[in-house]
Amino acid sequence: MALPKQLIDVEKIYLEPTVETYARGREILARYPDAERIGVASHWKIPSLHGNEGSAEDWLRIKRNVLVLGTKKALSFRPNGRSAHFIAPSTSNGCAMACAYCYVPRRKGYANPISIFVNIDETCQAIRRHAARQGGLPAPDQIDGEHWVYDIGENGDLSVDAAICDNVKDLVATFRDISNAKGSFATKFVNRDLLAYDPQGKTRIRFSLMPEKVAKVVDVRTSPIADRIGAVDEFVRAGFEVHLNFSPVIVYEGWERDWQALFEQVDDALSPAPKEQLRAEVIFLTHNRQLHEVNMQWHPKAEEYLWTPETQQTKRSEGGMWNLRYKVAWKQQWLAHFQELLADKLPYCGVRYAF
Ligand code: SF4
Repeated sequence: MALPKQLIDVEKIYLEPTVETYARGREILARYPDAERIGVASHWKIPSLHGNEGSAEDWLRIKRNVLVLGTKKALSFRPNGRSAHFIAPSTSNGCAMACAYCYVPRRKGYANPISIFVNIDETCQAIRRHAARQGGLPAPDQIDGEHWVYDIGENGDLSVDAAICDNVKDLVATFRDISNAKGSFATKFVNRDLLAYDPQGKTRIRFSLMPEKVAKVVDVRTSPIADRIGAVDEFVRAGFEVHLNFSPVIVYEGWERDWQALFEQVDDALSPAPKEQLRAEVIFLTHNRQLHEVNMQWHPKAEEYLWTPETQQTKRSEGGMWNLRYKVAWKQQWLAHFQELLADKLPYCGVRYAF
């Protein structure tokens, strides 16, 4: 799939020294023959790219025009327990989209273009070895009834990555052949190339949804909500397991009414088979003080939804950031209400976890 030029139009590729020794690296470079190539020691240290907090224009341009190629050095797995049992080593990080609440860019500064890791064969091999060591899933749990689930898209959006190279195709093929494990990733972008990947039920896509009126403001450069809902049937028919990721749930005047309408829209759009396999996760907004300050310079309208200190409390994160989440007592009530609305409108859609 050719990505819309306003999303990705690669003019410059920063690459680590070993990239061309990998087939995936050579494939990607051949795909963008006219792009300027700039050697870098590490995808983590590119001072001209990272940062730029003060200039949204610069970092949106960087997201569009720059691709970074490197390798994933530590092929380690982290236990998760929410959307997955394990977080697999990433095959990319960074994103061409620019959701106003996104935590991904915080790790490399705000202009965080897609960095693709070209040692995909090593990562797929590491996943096979790790799954082989686990044996069978001891008992069904909220994550899955049968398989160990690996999150493969923690640091970006794999549907966009899949338009650049075949890393996602290789991951889907890897899980197809592992009897006790399944891959899973959340996405805000509809890439129909994936429909040809033949996952045979072993990759779970979680389409992120929120009321369209809010998504239009905060989900910058993503696929419209109606397109994501419209894609669910097609992806299930193509052999994916498709769940919904209601995230972030943002509280504002009238939020319940908008979510009810969204649930109705989902109910109208889905045919019986997708409904039968449908599950959801619900995650209320966590915001961040530093991100708020950056957003105020380029997208203050989003902050009208995201920054509501009267209903939020601060909490220092492990990384030393000041995060904001809804005050506990209110959030508990809102969460309960959200689940009531969901159970009423989409009774077949079990909730895997909600917080
Ligand atoms: S699509 Fe996901 S990774 Fe990309 S900016 Fe939005 S929240 Fe972040």
